[in-house]
Amino acid sequence: MFAIMEAARLEALHLAQDPVTGLKAIIAIHSTKLGPALGGCRYLAYPDDISAMRDAVRLAHGMSYKAALAGLDHGGGKAVIIRPPHVDNRAALFEAFGRVIESLKGRYITAVDSGTSSADMDCIAQQTRHVTSTTSAGDPSPHTAMGVFAGIRATALARLGSDDLEGLRIAVQGLGNVGYGLAEQLHAAGAELLVSDLDGGRVRLAVEELGAQPIAPEALLSTPCDILAPCGLGGVLNSHTVRQLHCAAVAGAANNQLASVEVADELEARGILYAPDYVVNSGGLIYVALRHRDESLVAITSRMSQIGLRLTEIFAHAQADKRSPARVADDLAERLLYGN
Ligand code: NAD
Repeated sequence: MFAIMEAARLEALHLAQDPVTGLKAIIAIHSTKLGPALGGCRYLAYPDDISAMRDAVRLAHGMSYKAALAGLDHGGGKAVIIRPPHVDNRAALFEAFGRVIESLKGRYITAVDSGTSSADMDCIAQQTRHVTSTTSAGDPSPHTAMGVFAGIRATALARLGSDDLEGLRIAVQGLGNVGYGLAEQLHAAGAELLVSDLDGGRVRLAVEELGAQPIAPEALLSTPCDILAPCGLGGVLNSHTVRQLHCAAVAGAANNQLASVEVADELEARGILYAPDYVVNSGGLIYVALRHRDESLVAITSRMSQIGLRLTEIFAHAQADKRSPARVADDLAERLLYGN
């Protein structure tokens, strides 16, 4: 366990259980150097406890990098609640989790993630104020989509010489909360949409409402396009899939798109510009962090507008150093977090 923590440079790992409600929770606090650790809470079944712990550690690490490059005074954290096969009272389980968060005295602030909802956050809020994305705070997904749209424009500018998306062929993989909102904005900007989702209903909607061209999920990555926007699951870019790509750039919402950082070098070698995922998809985090502090929508929008500028800066460094933007972003984040 300590080897895993050390490898991720994790500050603290908290385990909590409550036999009455069935709660089994792991809270990974990667860093509080820049401020309280902020990051979502997953509620999923895991094959074993170690897999759950690894998930929390990996995600907390990513949240620190995302918060640092978004200029937020927060560190990264993530919670995982191991979903029991059966739960009598979901509200009581999340309230018990709220008491665990309260015991950390503000070192970790939680939010919605896979398997949790704003209603769950409301239950947590009964016990602690260190929670965001409650029903009243609102869903971060539209803000993530806005940030990704800005990121795609910055990517088009760097790779294709203009941030005008009119007529560009943009392939969107995954039309969920973020992907569909992004597709709407791309359509409004005049882009030609190529879309896929495992849910045929989402694809039909995009065809009818946005004039999108449907692509089978297994064919999307190899479909010729200007920009590929992965907005489904992570890990889509690996040595095998990178060879199939027919695009000038990749910029999308999915977390952990690269199977490993070496894949970023392979993209670079193929002349495909990669926009680091945790910079592109930071709009939701910016929203929840600033909303938690009751900042105005104007302040939030102004902070979000920096996503494109930050990317442009990263692309310029990467071009000057002839390195992948993914490596440049990691270096920048590590300098902020560790001062090296
Ligand atoms: P979601 O679950 O609402 O949507 C994901 C969609 O992708 C689903 O419709 C699913 O059917 C589809 N999908 C999954 N695998 C696919 C595949 N191989 N091919 C085609 N479609 C596929 O999730 P979301 O909230 O829209 O988030 C999308 C991604 O963005 C996730 O990786 C998430 O971690 C990341 N992200 C989300 C937010 C946010 O604010 N929601 C913030 C940062 C990052």
